[in-house]
Amino acid sequence: MAGNWKMNGTKSTAKEFIDNFSLSAELAEKRQVVICMPFTLLPFWSEYGGEKNPVIEIGAENVYPEPKGAYTGEISVDMLKDTGAAYCIIGHSERREYFSESDEFVNRKMNALLDGGIVPIVCVGETLEEREKGITQQVVGKQIAQSVIASAGEKDLSGIVVAYEPIWAIGTGKTATSEQAEEVCAFIRSELDRCISTAAADSIRILYGGSMKPANVDELMSKPNIDGGLVGGASLNAADFSRIAAFEE
Ligand code: PEP
Repeated sequence: MAGNWKMNGTKSTAKEFIDNFSLSAELAEKRQVVICMPFTLLPFWSEYGGEKNPVIEIGAENVYPEPKGAYTGEISVDMLKDTGAAYCIIGHSERREYFSESDEFVNRKMNALLDGGIVPIVCVGETLEEREKGITQQVVGKQIAQSVIASAGEKDLSGIVVAYEPIWAIGTGKTATSEQAEEVCAFIRSELDRCISTAAADSIRILYGGSMKPANVDELMSKPNIDGGLVGGASLNAADFSRIAAFEE
């Protein structure tokens, strides 16, 4: 279960979250819990959270694909590793929309993360207009092909995470039905199987993201091709995210 804090959080809110998030010892054994957060919080969380609430792993929300140099304001894979980040979200629809990030650029970031040993969480998803036109599979299929499958010959993709996030469900309170989410997650898995291998398709974790919350997590997680969630708004609240991470099996 992965949280995406977006541009939210300071050391004091992070501390409050770390102090209040809880998961039973039994669930902590088998669930992976990650919070992706602004760069500024990573070193603090690594130190304070690692000791106080080690069940939570940490991730970043962006990375630049070059190793170093004259890229003012950017952060490299090595810099992320230096903070203790183990995951990194790439291709989030907010970055695709507000910063014009293309599938090719997302693919460069994925390759750099894999080379550096950080797990990429690659986001894909359609707009409401595309869904209403009936081209969801076409849109998501192209994003998967160009941002992920393009590297199949050269990289081991079995450890990556893909997040299906219908854009119309992000931050809108409007969740995809579990059937809609399952249908696209199953399609993504079949594309991974067809274009990479059955072993890769089985081991790549596919998350659903879009207004996931305590009230709908159990239903969404009951679907066979939904391996977890990418949670925005509800991940800012420790009680809600604790409940989400403790979804019923
Ligand atoms: C997200 O930003 O990845 C997301 C899923 O947001 P929310 O849960 O708020 O819809």
